[in-house]
Amino acid sequence: MESVRRIVQLEESVINRIAAGEVVVRPANALKELIENCLDAGSRSVAIMVKAGGLKMLRIEDDGHGIRSEDLPILCERFTTSKLQKYEDLQGIGTFGFRGEALASISHVAQITVTTMTESSQVASMAQYSEGHLVGPVRPCAGTKGTTIVVENMFYNNPTRKQALKESLEHSKVLEVVQRYAIHHPSVAFSCRKASGAAELATAGSSPSAREVIGTIWGQGLAKELFPFEVKSEEPRFSCRGFASGPNYSSRSSTLILFINNRLVECAPLKRAVEAVYQPVLPRHQHPWVYLALDVDPQCIDVNVHPTKMEVQFLHEETISLRLQEALAGQLRSLGTSRNFAAAL
Ligand code: ADP
Ligand code: MG
Repeated sequence: MESVRRIVQLEESVINRIAAGEVVVRPANALKELIENCLDAGSRSVAIMVKAGGLKMLRIEDDGHGIRSEDLPILCERFTTSKLQKYEDLQGIGTFGFRGEALASISHVAQITVTTMTESSQVASMAQYSEGHLVGPVRPCAGTKGTTIVVENMFYNNPTRKQALKESLEHSKVLEVVQRYAIHHPSVAFSCRKASGAAELATAGSSPSAREVIGTIWGQGLAKELFPFEVKSEEPRFSCRGFASGPNYSSRSSTLILFINNRLVECAPLKRAVEAVYQPVLPRHQHPWVYLALDVDPQCIDVNVHPTKMEVQFLHEETISLRLQEALAGQLRSLGTSRNFAAAL
């Protein structure tokens, strides 16, 4: 007869690896967190280099405020952050990162090397991390103000995950994250390139408007079909601005680039709501291109429903979706009539 097995606690390193694998599902998740850190640090320029879809290497160089060398020993420990001190801070947090968990999680699925320099220091410092801890000493080195983070051999300790990921798909996901942050931050210069090639994306960082950046990245063909979009409401309180394609543009795949309170997120109900507006306007199986920056009361949003923080839930989701639909539909109608009117002349 089979004996009942004893229940034992897993080793801590195994627990950490499992938890980290839920936060960092693929290289693009790690990159999103690293870009958000650059933006939190006030960077004007963010340069990204990618090897093998980010699985071999992701390198992110910024010109932000840097990290104090005294802080480097605990940088990748879990729950170490400069952005949050007590639970209540979570509610009003304006910065992107807020749990001090990103670097820790990445260090459990990859090796991390950080080079950083603050305004007030004479030299840069370099430190390496693995499994949440500093490896070896913090060393002084040459550098300029800002931070460079190199993430190598992602999922080296999880061969199943590594095999399941295809380099080319991962690369396109990585590029997509960069494109989206570049649109949302037209005044930051983003670049992204493969280690082996020229830049696939480079924005000037001086554009006053997302439309110019969209033109740089997706081409003027799309940019000129877009109309600016804005809606504000007091009850429930929210505001939304963005760019949406008009009736002349359609694509086989649907694009909704959604930032809620400056975080790149996904929200399936909102996506369906946007698509529904276009259904009577576009031919069958054709879809719009929409970029929305939605700001809601931070207290109404729960970003912690999913470990990757990608899928969010917020209060008044239905009312906000409806208001957005009305506003979008109204704009589309007015474009439609002016076009018909012009054609009739
Ligand atoms: P969080 O962003 O939630 O605080 P992270 O693990 O993403 O947690 O980062 C931990 C800390 O490391 C941050 O609070 C910040 O102080 C510092 N940090 C990380 N990346 C950068 C960067 N690119 N520039 C400056 N500081 C950084
Ligand atoms: Mg962070």
